[in-house]
Amino acid sequence: MLLKGKELADKIVKKLQNENFPPLTLAVFHPVGDGAAESYLKMKERWLKKINAAIRVYPVSQSTPLVKFYEQLEEVNNDPSVHGIMVELPLPIEVNYWNLHTKIKPKKDVDGITFHNQGEFFATITEKIVPCTSVASIRLLEHYDIPMVGKHAFVIGRSNIVGLPLFKLFLNRNATPTIAHRHTFDMKTLVKNSDIIAIAAGKKDLINSSDVKDGATVIDIGINMKDDGSICGDFNVTSESEKERINYSPVPGGVGVVTNAVMLENLYKCYKMQHLASQSR
Ligand code: NAD
Repeated sequence: MLLKGKELADKIVKKLQNENFPPLTLAVFHPVGDGAAESYLKMKERWLKKINAAIRVYPVSQSTPLVKFYEQLEEVNNDPSVHGIMVELPLPIEVNYWNLHTKIKPKKDVDGITFHNQGEFFATITEKIVPCTSVASIRLLEHYDIPMVGKHAFVIGRSNIVGLPLFKLFLNRNATPTIAHRHTFDMKTLVKNSDIIAIAAGKKDLINSSDVKDGATVIDIGINMKDDGSICGDFNVTSESEKERINYSPVPGGVGVVTNAVMLENLYKCYKMQHLASQSR
């Protein structure tokens, strides 16, 4: 079965459209001149329009003084008309890792990258603001009723925004996750023994469908640029007929589209957290 993301993404957006909230604003710190970031920015803009939300872009170039970046970050943290903040990484200036993950107000942290949000997520079973792509991967599995309880889930990639939170999301659902990275040996055996394989390495053709056991499910998260300018994932499907034998999400059209919808959901969650906090004061 092919696990396409559009139906689920539309469902998430529709649910948000039925909620009652004022026009929201997302502040984006955007690396100037980065081709991929440019297209992600346009995409964000397009998706935000679906819930009548606005985007406020803060361009960051090599000549942007670090102090200005922090001032702007503080400004949006304290501006009640800004409901969410995203920093598109990597930035062309060297922002201290600790500062980045502590200076964004947790209630505006749409990407769930702050140590506060990460700490709460990893130390508890609450899933308040969790990185969009990891949530999108799980939501896709849930949407297609792929069982997770007791299943062997193999996550390839251990970044803070995709692989690692996905590992914890699997744990929260009582799956048995294993996580791999650049130094992992014998991935083939690990793949063969897995019921669910989530690939987030950014390496074209990293896993072949022929290495996946019958009935298993592959969530392809990777985004790679092909020579002809089109994009592909990390999973190589050896023939069309593989979708009769295994389940997999396509790239494009799988996790990516759901990620955009989850971004809107996270922005709304941020708004609610700010709103509820101000009501209880
Ligand atoms: P990253 O570079 O931060 O992390 C990549 C991870 O993959 C690392 O943990 C690394 O150890 C592991 N890895 C690399 N090569 C490997 C190999 N040969 N074997 C096993 N592990 C290997 O990247 P990221 O930010 O986590 O993103 C991963 C991929 O997902 C990228 O292609 C990115 O473009 C894509 N992505 C997609 C979306 C989406 O919405 N669809 C969102 C974010 C990221």
